[in-house]
Amino acid sequence: MSLRQVAILGSTGSIGVNTLDVIRVHPDRFKVTALTAAKQIDRLAEQCIEFKPAIAVVASAEGAAELSQLLRDKNISTHVLYGSDALVTAVTESGCDTVMAAIVGAAGLVPTLAAAHAGKRVLLANKEALVMSGDLFMQAMKQGGGELLPIDSEHNAIFQCLPERFTKSPSDHFGVEELWLTASGGPFRDVSIGDLASITPEQACAHPNWVMGRKISVDSATMMNKGLEVIEAFWLFGLALEKIKILIHPQSVVHSMVRYRDGSVLAQMGQPDMRTPIAYGLAWPERIHAGVAPLGLAQLANLSFSEPNLTQFPCLGLAFAAARAGGTSPTILNAANEIAVGAFLDEGLPYLRISEVVERTLSALPSVAADSIELILSVDAQARQVARHVIEGLK
Ligand code: NAD
Ligand code: MG
Repeated sequence: MSLRQVAILGSTGSIGVNTLDVIRVHPDRFKVTALTAAKQIDRLAEQCIEFKPAIAVVASAEGAAELSQLLRDKNISTHVLYGSDALVTAVTESGCDTVMAAIVGAAGLVPTLAAAHAGKRVLLANKEALVMSGDLFMQAMKQGGGELLPIDSEHNAIFQCLPERFTKSPSDHFGVEELWLTASGGPFRDVSIGDLASITPEQACAHPNWVMGRKISVDSATMMNKGLEVIEAFWLFGLALEKIKILIHPQSVVHSMVRYRDGSVLAQMGQPDMRTPIAYGLAWPERIHAGVAPLGLAQLANLSFSEPNLTQFPCLGLAFAAARAGGTSPTILNAANEIAVGAFLDEGLPYLRISEVVERTLSALPSVAADSIELILSVDAQARQVARHVIEGLK
């Protein structure tokens, strides 16, 4: 068993911390080569002191100075860098063979793409990167020759339920008829849309089953998360959009399913704990301890499944429309959603306006072919500007 060298983009976030939890119990298998964070300098310093990576990256020069001082005090020789180019350096120069892509949002795109080009094993949590640039990203993975392992629990479940041959050759479907993505329905599953007007960020972030970062928690409440996941599944598994279905499953025990031509449905089950898909991706094709409690099926009263209600979750309909439109529509959807969610969390934009901002941004901009990364980044910037303008108009 060779030592896997791991760079973690977004190590101070929910996925980053869970990744280090798994790595911590397997020092014989994994070595951390790079850790990155935007602003949480104290937490990053603690991580660097424990895991001694070659490189650490933060967003600003001030943050880098603060981190350098904290590490000098402890005689840690980690090289501290800052800025977005340094995220790429962490991937290409730290000596890693594996990259956990766990930055939230579009900020993760460029370093994740660099990992794909460089032929690394990419553990993909940062679904926004794939939503923005699915075609280019999958091409980059192919050219780079590395392995792509989905970390999003639904996609990890589907990956586990597909034949291994499928993932090597998605054009031949091996009897796969449909992918069923499960969704808890979030904290407002049974709340009528009229009662959502005064929802606060704290209420939206209180997910019933999963503990996650604030942006994805809001996306789960609006179900934009599931919309982004449909687009993510489309690119990862190469099936037509009509074959990707959503099932509301409030217990979050079945993490997703694959329906086959012969009538079989394969499901992956487990606790709602991200350490399971993270451990799976880190050790694949082996299985290692993840520190996750065993699933006690006999203790569960029931497992239920139902169809989602698109009227109650307008973001889901917007994501399907953007997926069908293709081109840069998913990039625009993602950018507008990031701005609207940020405004809801930090500037008091009413909860029900999130979908309105996304819808108006999508109709203000044309969808064009997403054929270069420069174009995708410029459409992303333009959509952010339009979304900000829409929000100003709503104030
Ligand atoms: P989080 O907010 O907890 O952490 C985000 C990390 O990214 C932090 O380390 C932060 O410092 C860093 N970061 C944020 N903005 C940055 C920027 N502009 N530049 C550089 N670094 C930046 O988020 P999370 O919940 O861990 O989610 C991370 C990604 O994983 C998201 O794309 C999310 O959709 C996906 N994901 C998360 C979960 C989960 O359970 N948390 C499950 C499935 C998928
Ligand atoms: Mg998910």
